[in-house]
Amino acid sequence: MSAPVVVIGAGLSGLYAASQLCAAGRKVILVEARARLGGRILAGNIPELGASCDLGPTWYWPQWNPRVSALLRKAGIATFAQYQTGDDLIELRDRGLIQQKKDPRYANDSYRVRGGMTALLHYLSDSLHGVDIKLNTKLISMRLQEGDGIDLTLEQNGVCLHLHASEVISTIPPRLLAETVNADPPWPIETLQSWKRTPTWMAPHAKFVACYEKPFWRDAGLSGDAMSEIGPLSEIHDASDTAYALFGFVGFSSAQRSRLGEKQLSDMALKQLGRLFGEAALTPIASHLKDWTTDAWTATPLDAAALRSHPVYQRPDLPQAWRRNLFLAGAEFAPTHGGFLEGALEAAENALLSCQ
Ligand SMILES: Cc1cc2nc3c(=O)[nH]c(=O)nc-3n(C[C@H](O)[C@H](O)[C@H](O)COP(=O)(O)OP(=O)(O)OC[C@H]3O[C@@H](n4cnc5c(N)ncnc54)[C@H](O)[C@@H]3O)c2cc1C
Repeated sequence: MSAPVVVIGAGLSGLYAASQLCAAGRKVILVEARARLGGRILAGNIPELGASCDLGPTWYWPQWNPRVSALLRKAGIATFAQYQTGDDLIELRDRGLIQQKKDPRYANDSYRVRGGMTALLHYLSDSLHGVDIKLNTKLISMRLQEGDGIDLTLEQNGVCLHLHASEVISTIPPRLLAETVNADPPWPIETLQSWKRTPTWMAPHAKFVACYEKPFWRDAGLSGDAMSEIGPLSEIHDASDTAYALFGFVGFSSAQRSRLGEKQLSDMALKQLGRLFGEAALTPIASHLKDWTTDAWTATPLDAAALRSHPVYQRPDLPQAWRRNLFLAGAEFAPTHGGFLEGALEAAENALLSCQ
C-alpha cells in the first residue's frame, strides 16, 4: 500500500491542504501538536450566553481575500461588515478622552464571519473523511529517504511514534520549524537563518474580549472603535456577533504583560473599558485574555519583540534534495498575503500544486 501524505499542523493552512488532498483521493494523516484543531484560529467560549468570541483572527477583507471569500461562499457561511456606526474615541495622555465623528476616509472594509472564524474550521474538518487526525502529536524530526519519501519521528502524548510519508506538507511557522524540528540532512545554515528572521504574524500580540448583555456603547452613539495612548488596550473594536462584545489588542509589551499576570491585566483592561465606554463596561458577563506570545505552538522567544510593520513574506526556498517530498505551507510562506488567513490558503495552494 502506498505511503500517506502527512500534513503537519491543523491550522487553516493544514486543514485546507488535508481537505483538498482528501477530495483528490489521497491517503492523508494530519498531525497537530495541540489538543485542538485551528492553530491561531481560536474561540473563547461564553457558556452563559451559549456563544463564543474570536481570540485569534477576527476579520477578512473581501476585495483583497479572494480565497477566503470563495471558501466562505462554498461553505455557505454568512458574513457581515464590521460594526462602524457612531463616534470613535481617542484616549490621549495629555488631552484625556476625545469623542470624534468617524472620518469616512478611514472607515475600514473589514468583514466578519457569523459564528466566528471557527465556522471555517468546522466546515473544513467535516470534509476530512477518512483522514487520520493525530492530536497532541508533535513533529520532532524528519529524515529524507532519497527516492522513498520521508521518515518522521513524532511524540504523541509523550510517547515516540514513527511514520513514513510519501510526501510531507508542513504548515509550521518558519521560526518554529527552525527552532523545534530537526532535519536529516540538516537544513543549511542560511535556510535556518532566513526562517528565524521570519516573524510569525501576530505572535507578539495579546487580545482581550469582554462580552455584555447589552450593546450600551452602540446605544450611546459609539462605534466601539477606540485608540488609547494609556492602555493597557491600545486599539479597541466592536466584537459583537452571537453575543455583544468589545475587544482590544493589549498595547503593553510581552515583558510587561508577564510581569502583571492575567488577572491584573484583565482587571486593568476592564477598568479602561469603563473609563472609555461607561460604568456598564465594568461588569461583563464574561471576558477572555489570550496572550499569543506565551503560546509555545505559535511563538518562539524571538516573537516577544513587537513588530513595527507587516513583514515581507516569501515563498519557501528548500534545499534541492528535499524539494520532491517536502512542501512548506502556512501563512508565513505565502509571498502575496503572508501572515493572513488568505496567506494560509495561498501557501497551502502553492504546496498542493507542487505535491500533486
Ligand atoms: C490575535 C490574532 C489576530 C489575527 N487577526 C487576523 C485577522 O483579523 N485577519 C487575518 O487574515 N489574519 C489574522 N491573524 C493571522 C491568522 O490567524 C493566521 O494567518 C492564520 O490563522 C495562520 O494559519 P496557519 O495554518 O498558517 O498557521 P497556524 O494557525 O499557526 O497553524 C500551524 C499549526 O501547526 C501546529 N504545530 C506547530 N508546531 C508543530 C509541530 N512541531 N508538530 C505538529 N504541529 C505543530 C500548531 O499547533 C498550529 O496548529 C491573526 C492572528 C492572531 C494570533
